[in-house]
Amino acid sequence: MLVVMKPQATPEQIQAVCEHIQQLGFRAHPLPGAQRTAIGITGNKDRVEAASLEDLPGVAEVIAVSKPYKLVSRDVKEENTIITFPGTDATIGGKDLAMIGGPCSVESREQTFAAAEAIAAAGAQFFRGGAFKPRTSPYAFQGMGEEALKIMADVRDRFGLRIVTEAIDTDALELVDHYADVIQIGARNMQNYSLLRAAGRKRKPVLLKRGLAATLEEFLMAAEYIMSEGNYQVILCERGVRSFADHTRNTLDLSIVPAVQRLSHLPIVVDPSHGTGKRNMVVALGRAAVAVGADGLIVEVHHQPDKALSDGAQTIYPEQFVQLMNESSQIAAILGRNVPRGIHVAETASAER
Ligand code: PEP
Ligand code: MN
Repeated sequence: MLVVMKPQATPEQIQAVCEHIQQLGFRAHPLPGAQRTAIGITGNKDRVEAASLEDLPGVAEVIAVSKPYKLVSRDVKEENTIITFPGTDATIGGKDLAMIGGPCSVESREQTFAAAEAIAAAGAQFFRGGAFKPRTSPYAFQGMGEEALKIMADVRDRFGLRIVTEAIDTDALELVDHYADVIQIGARNMQNYSLLRAAGRKRKPVLLKRGLAATLEEFLMAAEYIMSEGNYQVILCERGVRSFADHTRNTLDLSIVPAVQRLSHLPIVVDPSHGTGKRNMVVALGRAAVAVGADGLIVEVHHQPDKALSDGAQTIYPEQFVQLMNESSQIAAILGRNVPRGIHVAETASAER
């Protein structure tokens, strides 16, 4: 159910409707829009009695949302969600594309700073690096954990880059929430509902990767889990799915970008690194993702990819990242979008860190 407030409804009226919904045993999610506020109602009890809400002051109408995903849906919020990063000019989901680059794993301070310097010089605003790695083999490099998070916090201080990194479980989530700017939930955890709920209780943006064999609806329902806990800052990420094709590691499903944009207000970025598994395809598929309307790219970059401790075969060189930035800019311009160059950080924001 969705309560649509009148454009002139006051904050007190919105608050009163939320309290009424809670008294009925449901959760209220006020979602302000450009014209009016909508209040999503979630809960796993019976249906809400619409009549009891319709007569409350400031309410325009009460409508049933027929889709299984509610807060994720454009029915609840028509305008695109734009995620902001306080104290900086970086956004995800607006006109500007979010360019996220960095190594698969943080391996050492030197390697991380070498990658970060190249990412910042190329003009990207976001840095990625794995501290906790979900590896197929228990004997493979598992990541440097908290030490890696500290190195990336230093990268933010030095270059201004906002940090995106994965939380593989609820313990890692606490640490990632403490050090990073965006909490990544990996493909393998897309249906780890307790982790999704825990990420939903945080107030940092969550980058949710599509599961290895997830349908569009399953993907959106995973985002719904996060939002149902009150965290509305979710960024979806297409990173390729399993298919019969064996010329790539995964099959990058770019058609999910317009499919998501039709149904949901959430931003969606594309990962052409995991999406192809091959260095020689990353730039081409990155360009294609921008052309299809993605809100940004997340790409693995290393100054010595052949020495990388994880995912070297799909990791591009810094020069290739520069090429991808330049070509993405040109494609974005055709679409009326923009690839911002560099991040501006307010003095106070950097001093607070
Ligand atoms: C990663 O970003 O390094 C990663 C492990 O991604 P995914 O969850 O998409 O496999
Ligand atoms: Mn990787």
